[in-house]
Amino acid sequence: MKLEKIDTLKLRPEHLTNVVVLTGSGISAESGIPTFRNADGYWSRYRAEDLATPEAFSESPQVVWEWYLARRHLIARANPSPGHFALVEMARLLPGQFTLITQNVDGMHQRAGHSKLLELHGNIFTNRCAVCARRHSDDTLNFQNLPPACPVCLGPVRPDVVWFGESLNIAVVEDAFTLARNASLFLAIGTSAVVHPAASLPLVASDNGALLIEVNPEATPISDDADIIFRYPAAQVLPSLFRRMRRVVSRNLLVQHV
Ligand SMILES: [Zn+2]
Repeated sequence: MKLEKIDTLKLRPEHLTNVVVLTGSGISAESGIPTFRNADGYWSRYRAEDLATPEAFSESPQVVWEWYLARRHLIARANPSPGHFALVEMARLLPGQFTLITQNVDGMHQRAGHSKLLELHGNIFTNRCAVCARRHSDDTLNFQNLPPACPVCLGPVRPDVVWFGESLNIAVVEDAFTLARNASLFLAIGTSAVVHPAASLPLVASDNGALLIEVNPEATPISDDADIIFRYPAAQVLPSLFRRMRRVVSRNLLVQHV
């Protein structure tokens, strides 16, 4: 059964025992952050696939860093969307029963108020030494000379994100699959669900009994498996979905106290 109107969504307390959310670039786009492939201005002459690679970094680390600093600047000027904020409210409503996984590297969920989440592709605002793999905060690095040098081993420091052709952090991926397997409700939001593991997490959750809800204006490869689909932007759906969840929680509390 597929529904497209939130008013008719029947949520039950057992759906909310372990809510797992996966977000992709769609929710960032709603904040006005251009997707990887939609850069404009100076950087439009480059393709993300040519800059976000280990090869590009070893050949032209300065250009790669300039591009990332420009993206950081764009992101810093944007604000979290109502979709981001609704997810924070869900996390507060369901302490210990809500986990957020994101494919986004822009840190917008943290800016909205999330302190704990799984970042599958890293974070554009963190730095890692390409040689010794130590992480360094911005204030310990000199960005006047790009790439910044590692304060420990003097190796080149890179953005702590997963580039094209690189593997994801295995521990993070395993955590994500464990979460998906144990989910009671899995929300796939604004993810095109074409790259691993985002493509398989919702299906693993569904195969293990989770209610699978997709929030995406576009159809995706997981749409056929979704129990419920909202073909709207996250900013439109998530605040209402949060209110539905809150009603279920408060009714359930009432029942328990009778
Ligand atoms: Zn180092």
